[in-house]
Amino acid sequence: MKYHQERESSDEVKRLIVILEALVWKMASLEEINLRGRRWVNGMEAFSVFIQGPTLLFVKVTRKKQEARRFYACAACRDRKDCNFFQWEDEKVSEARQLVRDELNRRRQPPFTHQQYVERYQQFVSLPMENRTFCSDCQILLLPDELDQHSSHHRLGHVSLCQLKRPSLLLLPIENKKTNAQYLFADRTCQFLLDLIVSLDFRRVLCVGTPRLHELIKVRQSENKEPFIKTQLLDIDFRYSQFYSEEEFCHYNMFNHYFFGGKPAFEAFRTFLCQNKGKSVVMVTDPPFGGLVEALAHSFKKIVGEWKTSRNTINEELPIIWIFPYFFETRIRQYFPTLSMLDYQVDYDNHALYKHGKTGRKQSPVRIFTNLPPKDIILPAEEGYRFCSFCERYVSSANRHCEICQACTSKDGRQWKHCKTCNKCVKPSWIHCDTCCRCVLKQHSCGEAGEGCFICGSSEHKRRECPHAAFLERTSSEGTKPCKRKFLETEKDTAGRKSKNQAQKMSTQKKKAMKLVIGKSKRKQKRKKQ
Ligand code: SAH
Ligand code: ZN
Ligand code: ZN
Ligand code: ZN
Ligand code: ZN
Repeated sequence: MKYHQERESSDEVKRLIVILEALVWKMASLEEINLRGRRWVNGMEAFSVFIQGPTLLFVKVTRKKQEARRFYACAACRDRKDCNFFQWEDEKVSEARQLVRDELNRRRQPPFTHQQYVERYQQFVSLPMENRTFCSDCQILLLPDELDQHSSHHRLGHVSLCQLKRPSLLLLPIENKKTNAQYLFADRTCQFLLDLIVSLDFRRVLCVGTPRLHELIKVRQSENKEPFIKTQLLDIDFRYSQFYSEEEFCHYNMFNHYFFGGKPAFEAFRTFLCQNKGKSVVMVTDPPFGGLVEALAHSFKKIVGEWKTSRNTINEELPIIWIFPYFFETRIRQYFPTLSMLDYQVDYDNHALYKHGKTGRKQSPVRIFTNLPPKDIILPAEEGYRFCSFCERYVSSANRHCEICQACTSKDGRQWKHCKTCNKCVKPSWIHCDTCCRCVLKQHSCGEAGEGCFICGSSEHKRRECPHAAFLERTSSEGTKPCKRKFLETEKDTAGRKSKNQAQKMSTQKKKAMKLVIGKSKRKQKRKKQ
């Protein structure tokens, strides 16, 4: 701790950024797009970064002096190398610096406007199939006069209408050296979500960061299936502008509720959400699993607020399906207390760790959080889910109803056991430790338990077991291992913590505390009153 207190305040800021970077590990910051080392070219010079919309406002609180200094940092970029936007709130920006910034932003924009993309698409589909070419390096549908420019690139010819209907198969999932930021639903999960939406009589789906679900609904539309279900995709991946109209897709940042297309894009969103008096619409979101639940919740509340303007009653809720790892349950429910977590394991095509299954492979930690009545969401019996009549919800096969807790208590799909001392159910691998006064892993370092995971904040596991960390370590071996190093840095901060309570005490004693504020934070106001 001494080490910690002696650090300069600028180090504090850096430290916060490092922590945030670690937390926002899965964020699809497209500026890091690394399409297998290839470049984007398109009449413009190669670009790998682009504007992410407004910044988030953070605050650095110096406890002793009771003062807070706020600063802006980019809302979507994880890597300060790529987007080093940092500015004190009260700082004046010189004209020269502003010019540099404007120029950078200009270069970071997508090469075409959404309207231009739509026109290009129309031209593209009218071409005979043998002339329809997609440049895999540039991730763009090419028009005939652009072919020369891409002649040395990897291209895909004879693009069929079928392929155009499945852009998520045509486009490479966004990857970068640290993380694979786009995790596309496995067919099993995507079909399950669609069937659920149909069975619950929804007619419109607002897909926030769920391009594959959006795509599946569109495929269903083209098959003329009844009832007709409309869909709109909000996503930061602007490559989708090539395939969808302005009504079907908005280039959007869900960390700050920013529409890159300005007012017309926002209006398209509002019209979609609020049409038919806001009836029979559901929002489905699968955000990056970063720690910024607070930022996501803030945006989702704005979406809910928009929807409410179309409804007459205030007590209603916008139906939400939020897909996120189970260990974020507490944090999600902090912002959306009416969401409950289902046992269904969401799995992905391109994520080895997050796969459904019992033997060999790890079970997926990703779940569905929803304010729809859990009893109405029938989980597939062929995958072992069954109905618990006490809990009135479908649970995974190994999830046993605990008489004492009066609930099916397993969160991870394994059978949990009840600890009488802790008075709650715990993971099967845990034992009650009298020194730590709680249930912990058998091989824990005694006396140091309780700090939880430093990466995702979960008390369910440690940093070492965090699926995020596992993934980061796996991918970071590709390059210079920047993440690993960063995690070690953050470890210093947790080292020496004795128990959760002690850790909390310590952190309130910290002279300098960092807090993220989004807009006007109630928490900050409370702090001031203290
Ligand atoms: N499972 C989903 C994809 C989830 S991956 C599916 O198969 O449809 C996360 C998605 O969120 C990606 O599509 C990514 O482009 C998008 N995303 C990442 N960061 C975002 C941001 N800041 N704002 C909006 N969308 C974002
Ligand atoms: Zn190309
Ligand atoms: Zn129990
Ligand atoms: Zn116990
Ligand atoms: Zn112990």
